[in-house]
Amino acid sequence: MAYRKKIIAGNWKMNKSATEARVLVASIIEELANFDQADIVLCPPYTSLQACVEALEGTGNIHIGAQNMHQEKNGAFTGEISASMLRDLYVRYVILGHSERRQYFGETDALVNAKAKAAFAGSLKPIICVGETLSERESGKMEAVITRQMELSFAGFTEEQWLETVVAYEPVWAIGTGKTASPAQAQEVHALIRALILKAAGETVAAKIRIQYGGSVKADNAHELLTQPDIDGALVGGDSLESRSFAAIIKAPFAEDKV
Ligand code: PEP
Repeated sequence: MAYRKKIIAGNWKMNKSATEARVLVASIIEELANFDQADIVLCPPYTSLQACVEALEGTGNIHIGAQNMHQEKNGAFTGEISASMLRDLYVRYVILGHSERRQYFGETDALVNAKAKAAFAGSLKPIICVGETLSERESGKMEAVITRQMELSFAGFTEEQWLETVVAYEPVWAIGTGKTASPAQAQEVHALIRALILKAAGETVAAKIRIQYGGSVKADNAHELLTQPDIDGALVGGDSLESRSFAAIIKAPFAEDKV
């Protein structure tokens, strides 16, 4: 099995002003200085991106991502932000198709796909989210939903683009609810996603691509989740807003025993 470096991203959602972000980044640097066993990505709101980039200057292991972007390069799209505007701020990653964007802002798989292509054109690495709702899971549709999202949101990627991409499996019923998928439930879907990628993009991509789990990841469940064979990282919401809990999650898979 190919070695895949873990990648842990913190999705701050609509939290942390630029002033608050500087304080949080300073304490994250203190907790994670010189920790290079995992790639770390902080995803603050747009208005705090620059403050975070500046606060991280001189540290190599922590990168910045945005939580969304528009699919067009520029133009009359009031309130929107393009890939090149993010790249100009030294943003490296962008979360696309988060379930909150799909649910509250009507984002479809086709739109997520268009945004992903615009992200590649702007030299950003997309973290693309997929995941089923509770009713879809309970009615036995999980596999069909994940398969559709994988086919449509990732349609037409070249091998090079696949290799720039991170997939985040986030069961909607586990986001912000305190309910986590069990390690076995999460592993089952991660294996399904890797099998779908194998079919779509071939062996090299399937072996190398990183698939994050997201949904109420916490210090006390991170070790078991992050040591499953097909779980290569985490997308963390609530517990990324505090440096201690975020650092504990990042270090969890490298601890001998459970944290
Ligand atoms: C998320 O927003 O991507 C997320 C996983 O949130 P939480 O960790 O709070 O469930």
